[in-house]
Amino acid sequence: MTHAAEPSAGAAEPITVDTDVVIIGAGLSGIDIAYRLRERNPDVGYVILERRPRIGGTWDLFRYPGVRSDSDIFSLSYPFEPWQRPEALAGGEHIRDYLVHTAHTYGIDTHMRFDRRVEGADWDSSTDTWAVSVEPGETHPAERYRCRFVALATGYYDYDHPYTPPFPGLDDFTGPVVHPQLWPEDLDHSGKRIVVIGSGATAVSLIPALARTAAHVTMLQRSPSYIYSSPQRQIFAPLVRKVLPRNLAHRVIRSRYALQTAALVHATHRFPTLGRNLIRSGVVKNLPAGYPVDVHFNPTYDPWDQRMCMVPDADLFRAIASGSVEMVTAHIDRLDATGVILTSGRHLDADIVVTATGLQLQAFGGITLRIDGTEVKPHDRFLFKSRFLEDVPNLAWSLGYTNASWTLRADMTAQSIAELVAYLREHGYTHAYPHLGKRPMPSKSIWDLQAGYVLRSPEAYPKSGTRGAWEVRHNYYRDLLDHRLDKVDDGLVFGRAPIAADHA
Ligand SMILES: Cc1cc2nc3c(=O)[nH]c(=O)nc-3n(C[C@H](O)[C@H](O)[C@H](O)COP(=O)(O)OP(=O)(O)OC[C@H]3O[C@@H](n4cnc5c(N)ncnc54)[C@H](O)[C@@H]3O)c2cc1C
Repeated sequence: MTHAAEPSAGAAEPITVDTDVVIIGAGLSGIDIAYRLRERNPDVGYVILERRPRIGGTWDLFRYPGVRSDSDIFSLSYPFEPWQRPEALAGGEHIRDYLVHTAHTYGIDTHMRFDRRVEGADWDSSTDTWAVSVEPGETHPAERYRCRFVALATGYYDYDHPYTPPFPGLDDFTGPVVHPQLWPEDLDHSGKRIVVIGSGATAVSLIPALARTAAHVTMLQRSPSYIYSSPQRQIFAPLVRKVLPRNLAHRVIRSRYALQTAALVHATHRFPTLGRNLIRSGVVKNLPAGYPVDVHFNPTYDPWDQRMCMVPDADLFRAIASGSVEMVTAHIDRLDATGVILTSGRHLDADIVVTATGLQLQAFGGITLRIDGTEVKPHDRFLFKSRFLEDVPNLAWSLGYTNASWTLRADMTAQSIAELVAYLREHGYTHAYPHLGKRPMPSKSIWDLQAGYVLRSPEAYPKSGTRGAWEVRHNYYRDLLDHRLDKVDDGLVFGRAPIAADHA
């Protein structure tokens, strides 16, 4: 149940809303948590607080041409809501529509409060409640939501500040400098010469789309990434859809793609040279004879040490072969009024420069957590079962995989939150938290990637331990097995508040 107490006009105190669960973030994870929460606890009260004006998170924010998934959409979609389109890599707009549709189908959108930027969450251990504080917005004053449980579905990066390295002379360039995270709706790139700085998934999805109407596109990378072509129209999914009922077909297709990716990741980790050669032969096959593949497509790291860049139907290679895109692997000296000057002295003429230089990591959407007035610094805490924060009661965070679709873990997290909320209610407990105590535990990063955005911010996130449920793994099938065998109370400390909160 959710009750709101409206303030009298001009009141200084923020209004207070009481509910059972506050979910922060209306993206893929937030919708998943809401679905699982109600599936397991039909009468639970919840609200979803979202700082943006719309549903979708990443898939609403990123609007650059060509934005799409870089893992297969079948395993990126929810197990409970079939993905209906044929392509294996889905366009951003289709993913956004799917999220809006799912939220609407299950009545989740009616629980969403937009333009609600959460700035803090305060745990009061005398009542075992969280007070979630929302900044004043355009449509409302400051608000406070008091609840028993907080689910952080805030993603993993800073929504306001993408990462742009301090390139010398950036201000001297007279044309637009655009970051894909903040793509201007009215940017007209047709007939323009564009230099895209970057070599990750964003650059490789953006460049073929720009090349369709641009005069010329240069992909300028400091070092190469693995790029792998995947056919958009697959035989398996349509076949299964023909013979099985809709929901069952979706489950079969989803499992098959999750398994295929896991097998690929495992095989390339185990046999990196073989993996490297296979990926290289795919590139060679799609480029003209004599193309310097080893200059532009031969990374220094092993496959899956960084996220793999997938391209549908070799579109990037086809654009290179047609001459509309040039790959340049080189270092930037500086920018000037008309383009980019390389350390070799070569000048890349540009009307537009795109800095596809990545994200800035941020834990918990920048929200400050406090327990009885003391701030909890994310990096001081270990994660437990990849979702609960050490010694922090009634709080979970949705984290995805680096080498598989985000939803594969997000959905297990959503189910686990729903189960824990049910357990607390059924047993009359008012709090639960994981406790490591004084046992020594070596720590490592929760990410298993060597990507620039991970290495830049080593302390942005909670830590992974190295043992048992304290270790954050990027291994879906091992996690799935643990999830199936998991008992909700394993490893958690339960208790009751000294003072009953009046709403609970
Ligand atoms: C360009 C791009 C492509 C990607 N492609 C893939 C892919 O193919 N496969 C894959 O598995 N993953 C991919 N990812 C990762 C992607 O982020 C996940 O797929 C997924 O969207 C994460 O969902 P989420 O709901 O956890 O987080 P997000 O989508 O980031 O949503 C978080 C939500 O929380 C809100 N929020 C944050 N802080 C606050 C706050 N303080 N107060 C209120 N609201 C807040 C945000 O506004 C946002 O709506 C991609 C990421 C990017 C940037």
